[in-house]
Amino acid sequence: MDTGTICIVVSVLTLILIVKYLTRGNYVKADSGVSYNVRKQPDEKYAANTLDKLRNLSIEISDKMGNIRLERKIDTVKFEELYTGDDNIIGVSVNKGDVLKLRLYNKNGTKIPFGEIYLTLLHELAHIIAVKYGHHQSWENRFEYLKSTFPLGSMAI
Ligand SMILES: [Zn+2]
Repeated sequence: MDTGTICIVVSVLTLILIVKYLTRGNYVKADSGVSYNVRKQPDEKYAANTLDKLRNLSIEISDKMGNIRLERKIDTVKFEELYTGDDNIIGVSVNKGDVLKLRLYNKNGTKIPFGEIYLTLLHELAHIIAVKYGHHQSWENRFEYLKSTFPLGSMAI
């Protein structure tokens, strides 16, 4: 390899590292020790702990429900805070649960009540369980089932 080639390789590797550094997200450790990608702000711990609670609730639902589609996915779902884009979108499931992004704050900066975030979680879990994408009858049936079977007050966590 000549000096020119080595120079190009080093430059490309440096560029990759810079891009990785800039797009790595802001990972904050919850009290459980699990880290979550959250918005940079003074109360990051609240966001990380809330996402941790939602993750644990999802695992509890999966354990109680025994749905194979949810069971296959639940251990690898990455929970993240949703803080960009349209404020009216409060939850997003990427590729049927590879990543679940949930909004934790209202537009005016106040915290969204946990019960509302939990309903959004159930909405997204219904997407993971339903075979087809979108808000169709099958998704609706699953969402209604989750809401009536796993109300927040009945959960152990
Ligand atoms: Zn939806």
